Order: sequence, then C-alpha cells, then structure tokens
Amino acid sequence: MQITVVGKSLSFPRMCACCAGPADSTQSLMAGQKIGNRRHMSTWKVPYCSACVAHVTYVSLRTYEYIFLLLSLGFYLITFFLIVRPLRVRSAKKHLLKPSCVGCDLPEYSYRVANDGTHTFDFKNPDFAKVFVSVNQAALRNPSPEVQKLLGS
Ligand SMILES: [Zn+2]
Ligand SMILES: [Zn+2]
Repeated sequence: MQITVVGKSLSFPRMCACCAGPADSTQSLMAGQKIGNRRHMSTWKVPYCSACVAHVTYVSLRTYEYIFLLLSLGFYLITFFLIVRPLRVRSAKKHLLKPSCVGCDLPEYSYRVANDGTHTFDFKNPDFAKVFVSVNQAALRNPSPEVQKLLGS
C-alpha cells in the first residue's frame, strides 16, 4: 500500500515490515532527490525481523557479484535480473519465507522521494501499514482512499 508522508522524523512500529512479527533488525531504505544542483539523500531504517532480513539478503546482489558487475561493465545486472534473481526468489519462497511474509521484493525498490519533500513508501504488509499510518497521522499527505480506510477502521 502506498503511503505518502512529509517530515524528517517518522515513527516506525517495532514490527517487521514483511511479516508483521516482532522486529529485531532493520533494513535501510535510501532514495535521492535533486534540489537545484544538489542531490539530497534520504535514508530510513525500517524495522525487519532477522528471518526476513535473511530472505532479503538471499535475493540481493552478493559481494562477489559486485566484482562480476565491475568486470562486465555492468552487463552482469542483466543476467542477475533475468536469471539469477528469479531463481533465488523461487528458492527463497520455498525455503525461507514464512506464511506471513509478503514476498521477496526488496524494501528499497518501493521507496521514492519527490521534489516537494514528500516520501512515498509502499508497505505490502497490511498490519504493518495500518500501524504505520496510525502512528504517523500528522505526517500523512493526500492519503489515498485505502489509507483513509485504515485510519477509519
Ligand atoms: Zn519478518
Ligand atoms: Zn519476510
């Protein structure tokens, strides 16, 4: 669910953004924004549980793959996204994901920051999204009907 907020301090529930279980770890979400000629980076630490961090790490690029990437002048990314990652996602779904997990998408793929200073998150877990909107009500911008429904219930 897409949630747009403003502000530099947001509260994150102590709950895993993937499975909604108790969080004991975090994942960094990062995105850049260009204001004039300067680039500003925004980073958030989103709560995760260690089991979910394990499946996120499993489908991500590994250290040795960064070397492939350099050696192939970036072409390895094509192989990675077309072949390597889908295979890892399949095996992660079989062995690493819990029934309560929302999936293998990396959290950072679904975060955007816009020039008007708004941050848009896309939290797939409905329980996490619900707690997040209720603790950050004051920061919400243009809540979608979906988000309004969460606040109302
Ligand atoms: Zn989790
Ligand atoms: Zn998970």
